[in-house]
Amino acid sequence: MMDTAWIAKVWNEEHPAPRREIECRHCHAINRVPVDKAVLYPHKAICAQCKKLLFLANDEPLTGISSRSFENPLDSETLGTVRAIPGASALMKLVHKRLNESKLLFHMKANAIECNDEQFPELVAIVKTILKRLDCQFVPQVYFSSMPFVNAFTSGGEEAVICFSTALLNQLDDRELEFVTGHEFGHLMAEHVISRLILQVVLNGSFVALPGIARYLSMPLKLALLKWARCSELTADRAGLLACRDVTVALNCMMKMASGYERGVTERTQLSLAAFVAQAISLGRQEGDHFDSMMSSLFAGQQSHPFIAWRVMELIDWVENGNYFDILAGKYV
Ligand SMILES: [Zn+2]
Ligand SMILES: [Zn+2]
Repeated sequence: MMDTAWIAKVWNEEHPAPRREIECRHCHAINRVPVDKAVLYPHKAICAQCKKLLFLANDEPLTGISSRSFENPLDSETLGTVRAIPGASALMKLVHKRLNESKLLFHMKANAIECNDEQFPELVAIVKTILKRLDCQFVPQVYFSSMPFVNAFTSGGEEAVICFSTALLNQLDDRELEFVTGHEFGHLMAEHVISRLILQVVLNGSFVALPGIARYLSMPLKLALLKWARCSELTADRAGLLACRDVTVALNCMMKMASGYERGVTERTQLSLAAFVAQAISLGRQEGDHFDSMMSSLFAGQQSHPFIAWRVMELIDWVENGNYFDILAGKYV
C-alpha cells in the first residue's frame, strides 16, 4: 500500500485543494472535481450527468497524443535559447546527419543484455504496456545493463533503444518502472534525442555515435544545452506520470531516486513520502530565483537527472494547475 499522507502536505486548510473543471468525454457536461480527491481516487470520479467514468482507466491508451500536450513550457523556451545561439542549428543538422543508429545498437549489443521473449520477458511486457498507454510510435529494443546508478536512458529514433540499469531494477517496483519507462518515452516522443546526444558530448567529451563533435561546441551553447536538458526532464516526468497514472507512484519513484533506496537506509527506517514532499515544498518557498546559480553548480556536477525536489514541485504544480487531468479525461492535442 502506497503512503498517501503526502497529500495533506500539499493541500490542507492553509492551501485548500482547488476544484478543476473537467469536461466529460461522454456527454460533455462540465464537472467540478477537487484535485486532491482526483489524485487519490481517479478511477472513482464519475460524471454527475451521465454517471460514466471521467478519467481513462489505466489500460486505456492516449490514442494519437502529441508531446505538445504534455510539454513543459520551460522545455520549449530553453530549447529556443539553444537554437538562437549562432551555429547551433547547423550543429544539430550535422549531428542528425552523422547519427549512426546501427553503431549505437552495436554498442548496446556489445555491452548490455538484450531483452525479448526468451530473456527477461517481464521487462519487455512493462515496456509494451507503456508503449500502448502513451500510443508511442517508437518501438524500442529493450536492454538492461549492470550499472551502480539508478538510471535509464533512451536513444535513437527509427531504431530506438531503451536501457535500464540493474540499480534501477533493484530499487523500483513494477509501477515505478512504469513511471520511468514513460519518462524515457517522453524523451523519445518529444524528440529530445538529438539535443541529448549533443549533451552526451558535453558531459563525456565523446560519444560512440559521434566522434569529433565536441570541438564544434562553444561555451554558451554548452550552458544553454545543459539548462535545456534539466528542463527537458520536466516534460519527460509528465509523460512518466501519464504512463503510470498515479501521482503517489510517481512521487515515490522520485524519492527513491533521491534516496538511492539502499539497504543501509531501508533496513533501518521506513522512508516517508510525506516528509519528502514537505521538503520539496519548503524548497519552493525559498526566496529568490536560485535557478541560474543551481544551473552553474550543476555544470560542475554533471548529473543527468538532478533537482529531484524541483521536479517534484513541478509535477505537483502540473497536477494542480496544468492539464494533467484534462489529458486523463481525453482532452489533448
Ligand atoms: Zn458525462
Ligand atoms: Zn530523463
